[in-house]
Amino acid sequence: MDTCDTTACQSAREIFKELEEMYDEHNLYFQTIGSVLEAADALNVPQRLKLMLTQPKNEIMVHCPVEMDDGTWKLLKAYRVQHNNVLGPYKGGIRYHPEVKLDEVKTLALLMTMKCALARLPFGGAKGALRINPRDFSKDELMRVTRRMTSALGDNIGPDYDIPAPDVGTNAQVMAWMADTYINFAESSSKVIARGVVTGKPLEFGGSAGREKATGQGLVYVLDALLPGMGIELDKVTCSLIGYGNVGSWTARLLQERGTTLRAVLDHTGAILNTSGIDAEALAAHVLATGGIKGFAGADAVDEVTFYSTPVDLFIPAALEQMVDLEHAERMQCKVLVEGANAPTTPHAERYLLDKGVEVLPAILCNAGGVTVSYFEWKQNRQSETWDEEVVDELLKKTMTRSAERVLKMSQRLDCNMRIASYASAIEHIDNVYELRGVFP
Ligand code: NAD
Repeated sequence: MDTCDTTACQSAREIFKELEEMYDEHNLYFQTIGSVLEAADALNVPQRLKLMLTQPKNEIMVHCPVEMDDGTWKLLKAYRVQHNNVLGPYKGGIRYHPEVKLDEVKTLALLMTMKCALARLPFGGAKGALRINPRDFSKDELMRVTRRMTSALGDNIGPDYDIPAPDVGTNAQVMAWMADTYINFAESSSKVIARGVVTGKPLEFGGSAGREKATGQGLVYVLDALLPGMGIELDKVTCSLIGYGNVGSWTARLLQERGTTLRAVLDHTGAILNTSGIDAEALAAHVLATGGIKGFAGADAVDEVTFYSTPVDLFIPAALEQMVDLEHAERMQCKVLVEGANAPTTPHAERYLLDKGVEVLPAILCNAGGVTVSYFEWKQNRQSETWDEEVVDELLKKTMTRSAERVLKMSQRLDCNMRIASYASAIEHIDNVYELRGVFP
């Protein structure tokens, strides 16, 4: 396992000591807050801000009894972590995954605070999770589970307070059930605004055009903004992907439209390779029909070692956290690591890749397209408006391009890597707002 011996971890050690909190250096939350604090140190922000960012404001845990189709009962655990709301209501996805842990949710909530601040969205950061494997549940069971979890969260969520969205294992249908449940409990005078309690809803029920593809689309706009400066042309590059769900499959399809060649994919069912190019649309249809990439006729099945060793220009992890570790990084032959997933790279792997000259584009920049279009959906819901996809795409492009420029500028100003620069830009904005608002009382 990677050992955390970076300057980032020195900063985290000091702050955790001051808070009299126990820490484990292999823990994802500890490692992530370490990088955030390294950026805070580079800016010389007040100690109070470092303390406030180190712990989430609220950590909510609920247990939901739910009846299964066969008459048996399960007691399910759900988390909602609300990290910081100085910029606006808490915002962040809800994940359904069987192995989810509180520290993982805390990490993702912290990253949401950073992501919204970097994009200058009027939102704070949160994240939620329900500890189930959604593949083991029938549609009716998923609906009952979702409704029960929503009612258990109660006033801890709301369109002006904390706004969930889809994440790993959840989708527009889950958001529709959450919104419907919340609306049923809402006062009659606020039922219209109440559907804004979640974003990523189906188009027919308050969703936004362009939301489903938004994270992949945003990632492509970031590449548009940054690759030319690295001397790389998007229409001539090859790429490989970990994960072929929402983020992975949309990224692949949109990159294919731009002329990029997809060489290799890894998901929970296996790995595939075709050096002359995998048809991203056909693969998306296969995954929709079968649940995974295994058995896809347009590529050869390969092992993980071959997947990671395949030479590509862009390597895009778009699955779960910490999948790119040092062992994998030592095999990888790419020019740019583009983080589609949240926290997909261990600190040791990142340091190794940076030392080797690989550019690492951080998640809070690359995958902010989802929360950005969620913001557009929330705005449309509040104004009872429906925007065309072209309007959404144009605004998304503007937001992503500005964020990319901000990160580039900060990396030059502080002479640091893109991850530290992205956190620094976010922290500087949060610091300015705290300066203006003050810290109550
Ligand atoms: P998803 O559930 O649609 O897809 C997850 C993918 O990960 C699937 O292809 C699955 O096969 C793959 N996967 C799971 N376990 C794996 C394993 N052990 N090995 C290899 N692959 C594995 O999820 P998503 O919405 O695409 O989210 C992916 C990542 O992007 C997550 O980190 C999520 O937090 C982040 N993200 C998502 C959005 C969004 O709008 N959906 C926005 C920002 C960030």
